[in-house]
Amino acid sequence: MKSPFNRRAASALADPGLQEALQVATSRFGDLRKQAFDSSAAPLALRARAREIRRRTFEDLNLHLDTLFSNLSRLGVHVHSAADASEADKIILGIARRRGVKTVVKSKSMASEEIHLNAALEAAGITPFETDLGEWILQLAGEVPSHLVAPALHKTREQVARLFAEKVDPHIGDDPRDLTAAARRQLRKEFLRADMGVSGVNFAIAETGTLCLVTNEGNARLVTTLPKVHVAIMGIEKVVPTLAEALTLLAVLPRSATGEKLTSYFTMLTGPRKKAEADGPEEMHLVVLDNGRSRHLGGPFHEAFYCIRCGSCQNACPVFQSVGGHAYDSVYGGPIGSILSPMLRGLETSGELSAASSLCGACQEACPVFVDIPRMLIEMREARVAQRATPMPERAAFRLAAWAMRTPFVWDLGVKLLPRLLGPLVKRIKARWLPNPAGAWLKGRDFPPAPPKSFRSIWKERQRDTKRPASHAADRPAETHGGKSVDRARRLLSISKGISHAPATPTPGPLPEVEVPDPAARFCEEFEAAGGRAHRPESMEAARGIVLELFRCFSDRPAVMSEGLPLAAANWLREDGAEILPLSQAGDDCRGEISKAGLGITGCDWAIAETGTVILTSGPRRPRLYSLLPEVHLVLVPEERIVPHLSAASPLIRDALTGSGESPSCVSLITGPSRSADIGLTLVTGVHGPCEIHAILVPEKLNLSPGLVAEETSPFSLEEE
Ligand code: SF4
Repeated sequence: MKSPFNRRAASALADPGLQEALQVATSRFGDLRKQAFDSSAAPLALRARAREIRRRTFEDLNLHLDTLFSNLSRLGVHVHSAADASEADKIILGIARRRGVKTVVKSKSMASEEIHLNAALEAAGITPFETDLGEWILQLAGEVPSHLVAPALHKTREQVARLFAEKVDPHIGDDPRDLTAAARRQLRKEFLRADMGVSGVNFAIAETGTLCLVTNEGNARLVTTLPKVHVAIMGIEKVVPTLAEALTLLAVLPRSATGEKLTSYFTMLTGPRKKAEADGPEEMHLVVLDNGRSRHLGGPFHEAFYCIRCGSCQNACPVFQSVGGHAYDSVYGGPIGSILSPMLRGLETSGELSAASSLCGACQEACPVFVDIPRMLIEMREARVAQRATPMPERAAFRLAAWAMRTPFVWDLGVKLLPRLLGPLVKRIKARWLPNPAGAWLKGRDFPPAPPKSFRSIWKERQRDTKRPASHAADRPAETHGGKSVDRARRLLSISKGISHAPATPTPGPLPEVEVPDPAARFCEEFEAAGGRAHRPESMEAARGIVLELFRCFSDRPAVMSEGLPLAAANWLREDGAEILPLSQAGDDCRGEISKAGLGITGCDWAIAETGTVILTSGPRRPRLYSLLPEVHLVLVPEERIVPHLSAASPLIRDALTGSGESPSCVSLITGPSRSADIGLTLVTGVHGPCEIHAILVPEKLNLSPGLVAEETSPFSLEEE
């Protein structure tokens, strides 16, 4: 009889659509990951540092959690601890009831899947809307995610098109752009009317009390900005001690997950909206989930908590590539899921997943933090055996093998006779006539030919060789004739010790960085590589032309604009007859109005050359939604604010969050337009946020004062010209 995993795996293997989707997606993700790491100055050193950060975090986990909680409380975030899934659901439902919540918008969160939040909300009469495109597709289909990063990876474009025709628009075709536009229209309405937003957390920075989200579509920014209440859910393992360490982890996460240097949005939330800010939630909660985690701290599977949920091990695993995520029947599938699922749900429920691996070590090799999955899989198997959780025939077979190994005469005889007898016998008897598990095993395989020598005889020869003079020892028959067996044995031994892909030793001090001789030029190059359009106007007239041209693409719609810009863009637009919405003020509800804007113009606090990223802090004259709701986002970048590397931005952001003035409730790192490849791996922009992002670089030599020069005093204004 097949085990539950084997039954699910068999049906996955028999599904040609799934096989095609898996093959294309996993190999594409794998290639992109390699290219992305090649672009860093020292990929191995970077990964070793990331691993070291995760390792050290757990040495003092309680201290970091305490620091995080006290900083969050100081910032006005309500922190709740949930021992298990039902307690977490109860806490969230309590908040929802108190606030009279009818609808909830959710961004992708594995923790919310773990606690089955949607079912709990629906049972309480509250309607949840998944807003990640892949998750929304699955919600429409009544399915669960099959991959940590690409939840609808198992669905082909044609399947999504049929689903949309049935549930969204009967006349829709199968063009991913049309399908994405339909999702944008539908979900934008839900964003605007939702009473509560629920998100996960990628990193929770203890020293600043900041919750970070790594996304591409912009839905997480909307979920955490538009509704009046924001609830974030995280497992205890998401804490990171410092901001600099979080940015190091950020340098490996998107590279591993989607093959990008940075995702479109890295959102850093530090409390609910500040008094003078125009947008952001009024109330913010963090639900910290244990759900069985703490009993594994310091145990043999402790290292699974280093995982940053990039999905790389899933893409690299030959088993996952063949059967996909649903075969694991767990929120967490693939190699890391084979460890996490039994840890969280118990060996009895998910223990068999540890056998769903060939122990090839590809998972650890692909893992950005070198989680030693092969070692833990072996220990998980041992734990299963110790608990007698394996099937009876398997236990009997191993008892027989153990007895034979302890009885040299029987073992020698078996090793000599069995391969010679079984091979020809199996050839004659058709595989399908054999009982399982032999029949099932042989369905897709040939019976391996008997090796010319057994391991024991090779070993004996090696022992003899070591006693011979050196000249004889070099000529080893075992290496020459039985080399394959020896190599294989060595490989297995090294894997079983967990050193198959041992991480590089972390080096102290700053990590090597790529050279950036001309930050402005590099910024433009990277900004465009990320899907944006960079402009370096040579005259005021040229800058004016760019602004007007962008506005005229949506001339029937108003524009929105932050204050304190380094160009007199407002004057230019007004002279052209454009409608500019009044600046949103604290207490106004301008969400619907801003949503109608075609063009949103903002400044930026800093920019990063290495990644083509702009960094925007929220503030009284800088609403978050201006860079998010309009169709096109134009960002004005003072050249002197471009720093070469992500690491150089770290102290600047830290100062903004911890300095003496009022800290921003949100810092957004934006790298390219809103985008997704959730439908048939076709890249589409404008999923929830801007379809296009443009940057105008404002040259340093024309700036009269440091920082963001106010429009009235800008040397780039027409009056000044
Ligand atoms: S175990 Fe490693 S590769 Fe797998 S999801 Fe976690 S971080 Fe990524």
